[in-house]
Amino acid sequence: MQTIIADDFGLCPMHDAVILKLLESGSIDGTSAFVDAKISKSTLNHMVNLRAERLYKVGLHLNLTENFNSQTNNPSVSKLLLKSVFGQLSRPSLAKEIRRQFDQFHNLFGFHPDYLDGHQHCHIFPIIAQELAQVVGTLDFGHSFWVRYPDEVSTKGVVKSYLTSGLKALIVSRFAQRTRMHFENRDITMNKTFAGFLNLNADKDVFTKNFMSMLSNAPADAVIMVHPGSDDSKVLMRGHKNALRSIEALVLSKHK
Ligand SMILES: [Zn+2]
Repeated sequence: MQTIIADDFGLCPMHDAVILKLLESGSIDGTSAFVDAKISKSTLNHMVNLRAERLYKVGLHLNLTENFNSQTNNPSVSKLLLKSVFGQLSRPSLAKEIRRQFDQFHNLFGFHPDYLDGHQHCHIFPIIAQELAQVVGTLDFGHSFWVRYPDEVSTKGVVKSYLTSGLKALIVSRFAQRTRMHFENRDITMNKTFAGFLNLNADKDVFTKNFMSMLSNAPADAVIMVHPGSDDSKVLMRGHKNALRSIEALVLSKHK
């Protein structure tokens, strides 16, 4: 069974309202939340109630690159990747930060995350994956907890991802393959197949075509990464057009 997961919950109330609506209608199967974002108490309560009623998943969207307040100084994703590749990240600081985000998730929702994925796929970067696997290994989340494996796996899937999202898909897939062993060594569940690499800054028509094709061609057991949201929101992430978030929302509302 496919599992459609909306990333970036907490980015802004307008994007969040779109995701909640898709959860309510059963158009998506879960959402990954930023624990340092400003999510209102009423939205949190709504999510907790919906999860209890509909059994959808709420995951931790591990964030090491966005800054939601002036107290954090997270680097850009390219800087983080370089630091991780060249071994310039402090392991104790990383482990502490990962634990803090798990704790903060529990403080917000009152339950442990059903799964974890990383904003901009930071969770499968070298060193970060190793520290994350170690932290998860010490936590007792049960066997239903899983970590997202962002790799299209099949050659056909990899080629398609490369054509629709460029080098990003190849780089992320390569790191995912290289760091998977850290999770396997600790018996942490990962999805077998994945879909969702797209150019999030593409032309609207091209994006719509690629998004629809990605959804209909995803393997039957895939975890599918999506980013629905509102075009009316003023909260914009670099390299990710809000117009494309609203296209995703529209297509997803008619997909299932
Ligand atoms: Zn994200």
